[in-house]
Amino acid sequence: MKGITLPVLSIAVIFAFTITSCNNQPTADQMETTQGISKATFGNVDGKEVFLYTLTNKKGTTVTITNYGGIVTSWKAPGKNGDTSSIVLGFDSLSGYLAPPPYFGAIIGRYGNRIAKGSFKIDDKAYSLAANNGVNHLHGGNKGFDKVVWEGTTESDSVPSLKLRYLSKDGEEGYPGNLAVEVVYTLSEEDELKIEYHATTDKPTVVNLTNHSYFNLTGDVNNTILNHELQIEATAYTPVDEGLIPTGEIAPVKDGPFDFTSATKIGERINSVPGGYDHNFVLNADSSLRKVATLTDSASGRKLEVFTTEPGIQFYSGNFLDGTLKTSAGKVINKHTGLCLETQHFPDSPNQPAFPSTLLLPGNTYHTVTVYKLSTNR
Ligand code: BGC
Repeated sequence: MKGITLPVLSIAVIFAFTITSCNNQPTADQMETTQGISKATFGNVDGKEVFLYTLTNKKGTTVTITNYGGIVTSWKAPGKNGDTSSIVLGFDSLSGYLAPPPYFGAIIGRYGNRIAKGSFKIDDKAYSLAANNGVNHLHGGNKGFDKVVWEGTTESDSVPSLKLRYLSKDGEEGYPGNLAVEVVYTLSEEDELKIEYHATTDKPTVVNLTNHSYFNLTGDVNNTILNHELQIEATAYTPVDEGLIPTGEIAPVKDGPFDFTSATKIGERINSVPGGYDHNFVLNADSSLRKVATLTDSASGRKLEVFTTEPGIQFYSGNFLDGTLKTSAGKVINKHTGLCLETQHFPDSPNQPAFPSTLLLPGNTYHTVTVYKLSTNR
């Protein structure tokens, strides 16, 4: 199907939609044969229709994304042994996401990570948010962007892309301003999943958007991520208190368990980090789109490179996965079976004047870009 033209592709999309709309998920055959983007019914939430979009590139790599929470539900590309199981944790059906899973694959907002005690001020006006993580506010509150239905539109002019839009109303989850958010997922021919975030507001507000995919490059939750090697372009990190709120210090990583300046096995020093890794790394260099992290797994030969315009990245080693969730295939999701590399501004920035600002003013546009690039050493 190389060189497919738009009208042909549109017919393919309609066809894919027609033949999959009564199922929960496109079958493997449909995923392999439909190049571009297809759309299948996934269920209903809040009286709104939820879809599952499958982005397929010319190599046959597929990424499935639902407009519920903007969740990346799977990402499949062969490892060196030819196996194509998903490298992100997720479920095959919408119901898996309706019980509170730990933000699998979701778009996080209005504020990714924590805001201390759920309070902050803008121009001396105090705002109060839900304390949904002990006394602190986490990932946008009780019903963050991970739990809302986004409006999806697809494009496949050159490469498949899915545009998701959501209007977060003034006062939603306690945040000020109507925030118009747009997130665009694009899958390139080079197996890059690009995520582009835009937002505008009509009142001063705070914004920090990210994606919460849990990666396991082995594609099998029977394996933890402790044998993965990680390298992060960060010579400093933000230490946290017992509630995982940054103390305000920017500490050097040198020679300690946070030193990932050269590729290191995650399991090597994790035991010297109480609770495991759940920290924001202060990325080197400016805010251009630059490579900030590389994750590799020698068993599958897979490599994931992370590029972003953001100043920070949360490396979370799946510490709170506790075996209570199961994959759709019935496998138990244990501690450390997935890890997140959440590109972001620093946690609790609204209360930390020395951190890069997360304030968004009317008339300005929030715009960040993150790219996850997958490859396999055969
Ligand atoms: C946070 C963790 C939290 C997890 C929820 C991460 O971004 O840093 O502390 O438990 O999200 O799944």
